[in-house]
This record gives sequence, structure tokens and C-alpha cells, in this order.
Amino acid sequence: TQARKLGLTGKILIGMGAGILFGLLLRNLFPESTFIENYVTEGFLNVIGTIFVSGLKMIVVPLVFISLVCGTCSLSDPSKLGRLGGKTIVFYLFTTAIALSLAISIAILVHPGNASLVSDGLVFNAKEAPSLSQVLINIVPTNPLQAMSEGNMLQIILFAVIFGFAISHIGERGKRVAALFNDLNEVIMRVVTLIMQLAPYGVFALMAKLALTLGLETFGSVVKYFFVVLGVLLLHAFVVYPSLLKIIAGLNPFTFIRKMRDVQLFAFSTASSNATLPVTIETAEHRLGVDNKVASFTLPLGATINMDGTAIMQGVATVFIAQVYGIDLTITDYAMVVITATLASIGTAGVPGVGLIMLAMVLNQVGLPVEGIALIIGVDRLLDMVRTAVNVTGDTVATVVIAKSEKEFNEVTFNDTQAGKAAS
Ligand code: ASP
Repeated sequence: TQARKLGLTGKILIGMGAGILFGLLLRNLFPESTFIENYVTEGFLNVIGTIFVSGLKMIVVPLVFISLVCGTCSLSDPSKLGRLGGKTIVFYLFTTAIALSLAISIAILVHPGNASLVSDGLVFNAKEAPSLSQVLINIVPTNPLQAMSEGNMLQIILFAVIFGFAISHIGERGKRVAALFNDLNEVIMRVVTLIMQLAPYGVFALMAKLALTLGLETFGSVVKYFFVVLGVLLLHAFVVYPSLLKIIAGLNPFTFIRKMRDVQLFAFSTASSNATLPVTIETAEHRLGVDNKVASFTLPLGATINMDGTAIMQGVATVFIAQVYGIDLTITDYAMVVITATLASIGTAGVPGVGLIMLAMVLNQVGLPVEGIALIIGVDRLLDMVRTAVNVTGDTVATVVIAKSEKEFNEVTFNDTQAGKAAS
């Protein structure tokens, strides 16, 4: 039928467009109507949108645990795990460093901030970001079930890796457990594709709600900041990543970009790398040809520690706030920004708006006024959506590159335009 031909991406795009139109229409027809606010925005749209995002989140913890146990226990050679971990972290740090350098240099060149923007009465209460030693201590769970119930990704990853490792070391019985986990993995992947079918409706509701509530008034003064961040995000997504794919892995970037569309749309509409994880893993394994051994490890790790899009926002925001307050930053300060922004991303999860918390930490570090965040908060919602799409794209690029280098990659699947389509 026609609906089948359209495919999920097409349906999501229609849901998105229809949602924005619907929201804008209601906003203009019934400005400031409490009926609309109570029953439509906070009522039906909120219910559908939240149920959709909850459905995605519902599956994240079982998915990460089961999939990573499968991946680890199928590693024939344990030393591979260490190499995989090392490569992943180096690649994540490398792309984040590129992102920050681009962001900082472009922001210095374009100079989006000027002093007329400072006004008294700016307030922003920063939440604490965790310190590095706390982050390290926190990687080991004292109670794995608690880690799961809290969705603490790094702790779940560590426990799953140890668990899977043990399975591969107990001979015959381990084989039985591994077979069970492989079956469970199939079940979970099936649940993921089921939930993905809800996306067009969920995205409709999220976009309509956004169109109804987004305050465009706040835009005026920070338009330049907004477009600098947006420009660098697009540059990173459509120039840096494709070049890395081509140069390091020798793969066709256009195929990659086409296959990433669903993942990016999910990330954009949920503004959460974590909630998008089921779709990212599904796409990497079934459409891009990455073996579960690699994807189940690098993607959950990336959703937590690799946030290139967020780093870009922080780089531009730091320069912008410094310019607004007329403070000159030295090269050392910029280096400090790069280091703190990278470290801050390790301890904070990929959930909506967390980038601002990390930004507070960066500003503190280089002695810039944290209230400066109040200036950019009005446009942060939209930027959060775009940078989350960049974050998940970065995780997936790394996954593909590493899978290729570890020979855990199926290039036929990657190049097959129809691969994995039936599932979604
Ligand atoms: N929302 C982003 C993510 O989930 C994090 C952020 O920049 O706020 O990746």
C-alpha cells in the first residue's frame, strides 16, 4: 500500500510538519486561551508526546544491558575489549576536540556578542555538575539493580561488561546463558521496532506542543549567537563527520547521511541522546552493518560521554558570554574550556537541557559570570534539539569507524539501501 511505501522517515516528517502547523494555527487562532493550554498543550499533546518518549526510555535500560551482555560474551578474545574501549574513548575525545576548536574559532571570528546585551537582573541558578573524581568513583555501582532503576548508563555498562565477560569464561554453561541472552536480544529489538511505529504520532504531539509554547520573543538579542551555534553544528554534521568517514574508513558518506535520517529525527524531537538510543542501536546494527559486539558498547557509552553538539554550543556560548561582558580570554583559558567541556560531558547523561549545566561548570572554570547563561536560555530549547541530533550522529560515526577497523563491520549491509528497511 501507499502508506507502506512512504516508510517511517516519511511518516515522521509528515508528523513533524503537521505538528508545527497545528501548533502555529492554534496559537494564532486562540492566542492565550486557557482552554487550549489546559486541554490541548498540557492535555492531549502532552499525554501523547510524553507517552512516546517514555516508551523509548522504557526500553533503554533492558536494551543496553541485554545487548551489551550479548556483545561482550561473544568477544572471542578478551584483550579485544580493552582495545575496543581504548579506541572508542580516543575517537570520542578526538571528535569532541575538533568540535570545540571549530566552535571557538568560528565564534571568535564572527563575534556574535556585544556589550549592549548585558543588563542587570540576570539570574541563573546553576545546578552542580559532578567533579571528575566523583565521576570516576561513580562508575562502579554499589548496587547494579539500583543503577538500572536510576538509568545510570556508565554503571550499567560496567556491570554488563563484567557479566558478559564472566559468561564467556564458564564453558558449556556459559554457552547456554549466552544463547538465552541472544534470544532476549531479539525480543528487545522487536520491541524497539514496535515503539518506533508510534513515532509519527509522538513527533506530531512534541512538535505541536513546541510550536504552542516556544517564546520567540526571546530570540531578538541573541539571533547571532543562535545562528553561529547552528552553523557550526551543521558544519560539523555535514562536513567534518562525512570527511572522517571517507578519510578514515573509506566509506560513502552519502549512504551514511541517508540512513541516519530516522535517528536524527528521533534525536531532534526528543532532545535526548539516551531516549534515542534504541533507534541508534537498531540503525547501526541493521542498516549500517555494525556488529552487535561494537554497537552495544560504543553507542550507550557515546550517548553518555560523547556530546560533540553540546560541546559546540558550549564553545560558542563561552566566547559569546565573554564578549558580552567584555572579558578577554587567553589561549590558556580556551584550552581550559576545551578540557573542562570534554570532561564535563563524561559525567553528565544525554538528557534534555543538560548542556546548560555543563556550560555552568565551564564558565566557572574560566571565571566568567554564570548568570550569562540567562541570556541564551531562551533559544536553548531549539539548539538542544539540533545538538542532540549532532550528538547521536557523532556516536554513530565513531561506531562505524571503529567497527570497520575492528573488522566487525558488514560493508554489504552498509551499502545496501534497503537493508533493515523491512524492520522499521
Ligand atoms: N540533550 C542533549 C543530549 O541528550 C544534551 C544537551 O546538550 O543538553 O544529547
